Amino acid sequence: MIPKFAFSTLKLSCVVLISLFACSKTTIPQATPVNNVTPTLEKSPKNIILMIGDGMGLGQISAGLYANGNKSALERMEYIGLHKPYAGNKLITDSAAAATAFACGVKTYNGAIGVDMDTIAVPSILEHAESDGMATGLIATSTIVHATPASFIAHDAYRKNYEAIAEDFLKTDIDLFIGGGAKFFNQREDEKDLYQALRNNGYQVEDYFSKELEDFDFSGYEKIAYLTAIDSPIPVAKGRDYLAKASIKALDYLKQKSAEHGFFIMIEGSQIDWGGHANNTAYLLSEMQEYDRVIGEVLDWSQADGETLVIVTADHETGGFAIQKESTMDSIVGAFTSDYHTGTMIPVFSDGPMASEFKGIYENTAIYDKMMKALSLSN
Ligand code: MG
Ligand code: ZN
Repeated sequence: MIPKFAFSTLKLSCVVLISLFACSKTTIPQATPVNNVTPTLEKSPKNIILMIGDGMGLGQISAGLYANGNKSALERMEYIGLHKPYAGNKLITDSAAAATAFACGVKTYNGAIGVDMDTIAVPSILEHAESDGMATGLIATSTIVHATPASFIAHDAYRKNYEAIAEDFLKTDIDLFIGGGAKFFNQREDEKDLYQALRNNGYQVEDYFSKELEDFDFSGYEKIAYLTAIDSPIPVAKGRDYLAKASIKALDYLKQKSAEHGFFIMIEGSQIDWGGHANNTAYLLSEMQEYDRVIGEVLDWSQADGETLVIVTADHETGGFAIQKESTMDSIVGAFTSDYHTGTMIPVFSDGPMASEFKGIYENTAIYDKMMKALSLSN
């Protein structure tokens, strides 16, 4: 047995040793860190992929998830927030005002494309990115001059001035765009040939008449324009299948092109909205399921890349869609309260560097602010 005094001595010795050690530590120059933890600021993304499911509210997302065996690629995303989608002049927004809020950071009137309440042009994040040396792209399953993509590149008082909006594509150096609406470039009422004008500006221009997307090797070309349809692309249920292919080809192309400065791209699932306007559950579900597949492929790409922030949201909900009590997971019965958009808040899913910026509840215009901050761009 150790005598009691011995134990006390041992304890005392330890205290002395620890004190000596502690003392000696304080004499070590501060340049040597006590441990390896250094204060870290969250890493900034090099690239942003903004994905907009037009009309994709929580009802649409839920129905798509159940119809897909209770799974959605959105479950792989790290943070969730909500945005308030109202417009500058109406509580219920249209896609033009909503996309202008994301693209330019201003609440504006319904029908406005990249302009404020006074119809003054406001530079978009795509234009800021472009002038900062980043590569940029737009992809849609509507025409490429439709409200959502148009608001990122064009400035027009009225969303249906499609020929004027198409001409705005020539006023930027956007590196890649893919979508429908070839007729607004090469079969125009004013008879201008914008295919030629684009070629003069360094674009490799192809369309679904000249080349399958699979056969179009983007590498080596300075800029890419691919028109997927003469007017609106067909619904996915009728055979449209380019969005996933186009998105991954575009990401590979933009990454290779922007090794130094990074890229910004917006990828739209345009026709979820059209299923809602048509009050057609099957249309809505098929578009929703395609978009979910595209989100999954984009996340495979971005998570392997590690330098890319992905944001998935919608401009607004369409149809006041709800899943009815007769539904089963395999058989969704939907009902609609409207053939137009509704005012419900909209989920925002984010993943990658600075994704945590997108949690919480905020205005739709804050998505612009947060993306600009993440890319260190200034107005
Ligand atoms: Mg749209
Ligand atoms: Zn709509």
